[in-house]
Amino acid sequence: MRAIRAGEVPRDGGTAIQEEVDRPVFRGNGADDYVCVSCGNVLAVSMQPEQMTKKVRIRCARCSTVNVSVIDGWELRKR
Ligand SMILES: [Zn+2]
Repeated sequence: MRAIRAGEVPRDGGTAIQEEVDRPVFRGNGADDYVCVSCGNVLAVSMQPEQMTKKVRIRCARCSTVNVSVIDGWELRKR
């Protein structure tokens, strides 16, 4: 994952807010875990690539960075 840039947030999407550090916002059935680009805090676990589209945004509970997942370009940060 990486930090989102200003103006990049689609108007039709929301941002998932992680409320507690070390409690992942999303839990899927795939093979990949995703961590905050800034502090390495775990945001989502066991995700499949198709579940992590550009509309998936998660605000880190530890450092408040809004992480965005991008499929093409492979900017995802996997644990
Ligand atoms: Zn963080």
